[in-house]
Amino acid sequence: MLKGKVAVVTGGSRGIGRAVCLKLAENGADIALIYAGNEEKAQETAREAAAFGVRAQAYRCNVADFAETTAVFKQILTDFGGIHILVNNAGITRDKLLLAMSEEDFDAVVDVNLKGAFNTIKQVYRPFSRQRSGKIINITSVSGLMGNPGQANYAASKAGLVGLTKTVAKELASRGVCCNAVAPGFIETDMTRDFTDNEDLKNSIPLKRFGKPEEIAQLVLFLASDASNYITGEVIRCDGGMAM
Ligand code: NAP
Repeated sequence: MLKGKVAVVTGGSRGIGRAVCLKLAENGADIALIYAGNEEKAQETAREAAAFGVRAQAYRCNVADFAETTAVFKQILTDFGGIHILVNNAGITRDKLLLAMSEEDFDAVVDVNLKGAFNTIKQVYRPFSRQRSGKIINITSVSGLMGNPGQANYAASKAGLVGLTKTVAKELASRGVCCNAVAPGFIETDMTRDFTDNEDLKNSIPLKRFGKPEEIAQLVLFLASDASNYITGEVIRCDGGMAM
């Protein structure tokens, strides 16, 4: 399905990003995965992706840093010869009620989750325009759609991603580039490990369970493939009905 395509996946070392790397690799895409510092997990994901017979390489990069992101994308373009799919998945939380939230807590989360996506989209904007194709998929969150107490920084960053997604979709539509967002609910990863035993939370979800990273990856695969060529500027929830 994605043979001959190169996908860059940020936050590809663990959780949802790892599942996305494996799903895209399983479907034939070469994978450049970006991680923040977890070298061991990043190399493990790269090895698992390569086992599908594709090329896979891990790159350490803080996506919040524009200069670092520019340098790493330059390297990826040299190594892979092109980019066709960009998945902005890298994300962090620093949950606290707004009263206790510091300026640093706010900036750190917005810098990675929102500015990080700006920084990477800047790198593919020209190449995607020139090649008159490309898929950009931003991982937002139901928090960004509904708000969530204790997540002012995170919800703001994820709501910002929705605006960024729709704007990029409008700017690049004439070039045949699609930009969409996926809004997960509670997915079982390191990010949510403190909540996965919370039965009340589980019962508040219409489908009565947390989601699995693979369920997000399946949706990302659809948005990365030609099967979704007439979809752009969309935000698709994958949340067991949480935000309906
Ligand atoms: P996770 O397990 O905590 O993994 C986070 C990933 O992001 C790791 O690969 C990490 O790299 C990378 N990362 C963090 N900061 C980075 C930076 N500055 N530069 C580059 N990479 C960075 O998270 P997850 O649960 O899979 O979440 C993935 C995305 O889905 C996030 O955007 C999150 O907000 C969103 N999401 C998650 C849920 C959920 O329930 N899990 C729900 C809604 C939305 P290292 O391994 O090197 O640290």
